[in-house]
Order: sequence, then structure tokens, then C-alpha cells
Amino acid sequence: MPLKSLTINGFKSFADKTKIDFTSGITGIVGPNGSGKSNITEAIRWVMGEQSAKSLRGDKMVDIIFAGSATRPQMNHAEVILEFDNSNKELKSDQNNITIKRKLFRNGDAEFSINNKSCRLRDITELFMDSGMGKQSFSIISQGRVEEIFNSKPIERRSIIEESAGIALFKQKKTQAESRLSETTDNLHRVSDIVSELS
Ligand code: ATP
Repeated sequence: MPLKSLTINGFKSFADKTKIDFTSGITGIVGPNGSGKSNITEAIRWVMGEQSAKSLRGDKMVDIIFAGSATRPQMNHAEVILEFDNSNKELKSDQNNITIKRKLFRNGDAEFSINNKSCRLRDITELFMDSGMGKQSFSIISQGRVEEIFNSKPIERRSIIEESAGIALFKQKKTQAESRLSETTDNLHRVSDIVSELS
């Protein structure tokens, strides 16, 4: 599922609104050390639902907002927009173009949208979950990640394989169903107690 464009505004070193168009073929991004190449892949991971500030090389999530420089003040929010060509319908949507947006304000407020419709972070995560493109997948491999995967515990490695194979979504849905089942079982016990008290 090809990426069409990435728009970054206020994310890490990107104080100016920057749009990268991904045309057909391979796109290479080059630049000197510290110029923001890794920040671009982190912006992609972030808009796709990354929730770990640590894995974005920060302490807390607001660290991804442009922190200011010698010549510019810090920004109040960060916004990333990622546009996909979904004509092959790899993402579960009948739309040919899918645009996801994530915005974070310094006070912690957050906004998410899919095709300009407000949504929850969970909707974005679920959109990618069984596509093999989730945040744990092999579609984005950051520096040090290969070594990290080799050194990871078998259980952690298994979750990466499950995400790539597209079964992570079903595992999450199973956990949710089990939790609802457990609540219902508790409710049934309560009802049964009340019935026996009344009879
Ligand atoms: P290398 O080639 O060395 O891996 P790179 O091109 O991948 O470098 P990045 O790691 O993407 O560079 O960018 C690092 C730069 O981003 C640093 O200059 C850092 O100060 C800047 N940076 C990170 N977070 C912020 C932030 N919140 N506000 C402003 N600048 C930031």
C-alpha cells in the first residue's frame, strides 16, 4: 500500500510545515548527521499510533513538539498527516485514499482523524493492525532495531511475527471479549445470589 505524502508541522526538528511527496519507485532521504532523517520515520510511526515516548527517543510524549532553537520560540503543538493510496484495499476501508492525522498540544490535548473525521487513537491503531503495517511491524526498521530484535526475548519476537502475520488484531479482540465475558459471568453470579435470596 503506497504512501502518497507526509506532512510534518511542529514535530521535533520540523518547525516549518514540510510536505514530502512519495512518487512511484523508491524515495531516498539524505542529509548530514542530525538533520532530521530519523525524525521523519518517527513522524510516520507517531501518526500511525506510536504510544511510547521512549521509542521516539523522548521522556514524555510532549517532547516530540518542536522545543525551540536559538532563533525560534518553541511551538505549542505538533501535527503529522500521512496519506496512503488504498486503491488495492489493503486497509479495511472502501476509500481509495486514506489520510490519517495526529495532533498533540503542549497541555497534553490530542486530536486524531481518519479522512478528516475525528476518531480515537484506537481507530487508527486498528486500521493498521491486521495490515502488517502496525507500529511493531517490519515496515519501519529504525537504527538499532535489527540488533534489538536479535537480542529480544522469544515472547517479544513472537509478538512482532504475530503483528506481521496479521493476527494481532484478533488477539486484541479476544482479550476484549474475554474481559467482557468475565464481567458478564460476575453479573450472572450476582443475579443468581439475588434470586436465591428472594426465593
Ligand atoms: P543521524 O544521521 O545522525 O542519524 P538524523 O538525520 O537521523 O541524524 P535526527 O536524529 O532525525 O537526525 O534528528 C536529530 C535532531 O532533531 C537533533 O538536532 C535534535 O536536536 C532535533 N530534535 C529532536 N527533538 C526535537 C524537538 N522536540 N525540538 C527541536 N529539535 C528537536
